This record gives sequence, C-alpha cells and structure tokens, in this order.
Amino acid sequence: MVAPPAPKAVPITLAKAIAAWCLLMLAVPLGSLWLWPDIAQGGHGAALFKLAILFGAVCAIGIAFVYALAATWSAPARRLENFVAALPTSETSLPDDGPEELQSLARAMRAMAARVRDVVEHASLESSRREIVLACMAEGVLAVDNTLRVIFCNDAFARAFSARTPVPEGRILYEVVREPMLRDVLARVVRSGAPETGRFQLPSAAGRWFEARALPIGENARRGAIIVLHDVTDIQRQEQLRKDFVADVSHELRTPLAAIRGYAETLLDGALEDRANNRKFLEIILAHAIRLNNIASDLLVLSELDSDAPPPTPPEPIRVAEVVDSALHSVQNAAALRGIHLRRDNCQDCSVSGYRFRLEQALVNLLDNAVKFNRPDGEVVIECAPIAGGRVQISVSDTGIGIQSEDLKRIFERFYRADKARSRPAGGTGLGLPIVKEVVERMGGSVSVESQLGAGSRFTIVLQSA
Ligand code: ADP
Repeated sequence: MVAPPAPKAVPITLAKAIAAWCLLMLAVPLGSLWLWPDIAQGGHGAALFKLAILFGAVCAIGIAFVYALAATWSAPARRLENFVAALPTSETSLPDDGPEELQSLARAMRAMAARVRDVVEHASLESSRREIVLACMAEGVLAVDNTLRVIFCNDAFARAFSARTPVPEGRILYEVVREPMLRDVLARVVRSGAPETGRFQLPSAAGRWFEARALPIGENARRGAIIVLHDVTDIQRQEQLRKDFVADVSHELRTPLAAIRGYAETLLDGALEDRANNRKFLEIILAHAIRLNNIASDLLVLSELDSDAPPPTPPEPIRVAEVVDSALHSVQNAAALRGIHLRRDNCQDCSVSGYRFRLEQALVNLLDNAVKFNRPDGEVVIECAPIAGGRVQISVSDTGIGIQSEDLKRIFERFYRADKARSRPAGGTGLGLPIVKEVVERMGGSVSVESQLGAGSRFTIVLQSA
C-alpha cells in the first residue's frame, strides 16, 4: 500500500508565541530610546541603557530556550507524523525517545498502528477471497453503480455475453452487454431498491435461458445494483421436453382410446346383432387395445431406462450370437405372416458387457421394424462381428421401403414416425428406436442408420467387447 505524502510540519505555536513576546519586550525599551532620545540625556539614561541590555539578555535567553524546546519537541513530533502517514505499512519505526508526553503518545500510536494493520490485513484478505469466489463462480455476476456503469463483472458473465475479459471498471453497461432486458431490470432495482427475480431468454447470450436475481447494493439502492445469472438452458430444455412428451403421450393414447370407445358404443347400440360387422368391430377394438398395451409397456421401458437408479444387478458378459438367435426367434412369426425371409449372416463368436434382456429387446425392435417396413417377399439380414478397437458390430439390414434423408435425423426421437400410415396400423408406438438408442447408449455404445428410399435400410449397433 502506498503511504500518503507527509503533511507539512505543523508550527509549534507555543514556542512562537513565547518568542514573539520576548521580541516585544525587547522592542519596548529600544523603541522608547529611539522615539524619546532626550530621556537618555536626563539622569536616567544609564539606567535605561542597562535596563535595555538586561531586557535584551533576558529575551535572547528566552528565545534560545524556546528554540531548544521547539527542537526537542519537533523531531519526535515529526517522527509521529511520518509514522502515521506511513500507516498501515510498518516501514517507519517509532523509537522510544523525546519528551515523556510524546513517548506515551508514541506508545499509544504503536498499539493503534498494530490494530489498524490487523483491520486492513483482514479487510484485504476478505476482499481477495470474495474476488476469487466471484471469479470461480459458474454463475455470472455483474455489479453496476447508480449510473449503470460496471463496478464488477466476473468471467462467467462476460463469457455468457461473449464480452472481452477483464471488463474494466467504469464501463457503461450497454457497451459490455447489449441486452435491454438486463438494463431495464438493473435500472428498476437502482430506482426502487426492491430486489427482482425472473427467468429470461437473452438473445445476446445466444438465446440461452437464465434465472436472474437482481439486488440493490447495500441498504441504499443509490449505490447501485448487482445481478446474478444462473444458466438454466438445460433445465428449460428438459422442462420443454417433458411437456412435449406428456403432450405426445396424451395424443398417442387419445386415438386408440377414442376408437375403442366408439366401436364399443356402436356394438352396444345394436351392432352386436349385426353379424356381418360385429366381429370386425371387435377385432378393431382388440387391435387398439394391443396398441395401448404396446405404448404402456414401451413407456415403462423408457422410464426404467431414464431413471438414474443403478440396475439391480451388475452388467454381465453376453454372447452376441445367442442374443441374435433369441431375437430372430421372437420376430419369426411376424416375418412368416408377411412373407419376409430372415437371415443370420456372418455371425462370429463375440461377447459384449451389459444386460442380455435389454440387448435382446433392442435387436427385436430393429428386426420388428425391418419386417414391418419391408416389401412382400423381402429380406432381413442380421450380422455380428468383432471390429477394430476391441468393439463388436451388430447390423440389421432390410430390403424395405427405406427412410427419407430428412426423416433420418429424427427417427430416434420419441413418437417420431416417418411412415405413419404403416406404423400405426402395425401397432407401432414410435418408441421402438428411442428404446434402441437408450439401451445401446447405456451400454456405452452407439447406433447409426443408413437408408436409401425404396431400396432398404441398415441399422448398425457398435458396443465395446467384453
Ligand atoms: P414404430 O413403432 O413406428 O416402429 P420406431 O421408433 O421403431 O417406431 O420407428 C420410428 C419410425 O422410423 C417408424 O415409424 C418408421 O417410419 C421409421 N423406421 C424405423 N425402422 C425402419 C425401417 N427398417 N425401414 C423403414 N422405416 C423405418
């Protein structure tokens, strides 16, 4: 810390007053002799002259005494001055000398200096601690004065708005962040002194969502305001996904429920006796009930996969060829009904680590789609083999209708269907591929798709071998 410049020496007023008094005393007889020289010609001349000399001698002694006194006091007083000026550093020492009165003052000052140093040290430690905490915070923090000039801006805040760091103190807020919403909030807090909170989407921060809390600085809002921004873009996105998901589920349930209710009412209204149609109506009710059941069980699987709870058993090594055989067995009837040929090709002996029933479920979903979206007399081929990097590749290819390139990006989204006309009547839920993706990713792998419209599709799963 830089010591303030030492103030000018304060004159020792008492000493000067004594000196002035002595000079006055000397001036009186000398002045009388000069003004009335005839006094000296009278009989009193010699006496007056002696008196003047006496006065002069007394004054000289007095002045000398005063200067000696002043010299004795002024050096320790100057040291005290320098000592105080150098606070709170301890560069200037304060020796125990000089008059007794100044010595006790020096002792008191030394004690005071120790306390001042403690307070200053504590305050600077506290302030650097606070600065470190603010700099390391993930939340953006910005403080402004009452004219909306920046007092403090941490890196997280500057980063969110792509501002250059460090943001110098005193900059106009609008030069740092071109965000009218923020300026309005801070201006309101400075004006009213009332804290404000809210969730905003800020265009100048790449459209990210922030939970903001703005408070006045100290009791008096005239000192400025501080705003803390918490990035809630991911939470906002998740909330939106959840809302969309609930809306999608309701939408998916509404259709089969409305159909079941409609056909049941028709049957009760007399169609039960209509021999030509009653069976058809019951079959439609059954198909929709099956679809409802499929949706419910797929949702259950997804919610299990989504839950953060660890699986009850640890992952185990799975022989892929065995899982492929079970999955083929599950879709055999459906394939035969549609006249699709299932083929297991180039299935080498390899193992992966995970949960057998989940992997089987993923393969059944892929094979089921390959059968469902195939052409009559089409073919489905499943292959599995170890590949470079200690990984295993499982692929399901079909000679079906294929998928348009704009749908390819979205088919792993929940409830997305590229071909609604085929999916729904076939009992499709739009959740088969999202389940495949979740299962594979939970096992540390990835799934991809290549497709050519009208020629067929190929889904490939890659997992780490056990
Ligand atoms: P669904 O229950 O409708 O089969 P999925 O999530 O399994 O739901 O598949 C989503 C959509 O992707 C399907 O509706 C379909 O349009 C498309 N799709 C999936 N697999 C294939 C495939 N092998 N061939 C053509 N389209 C497919």
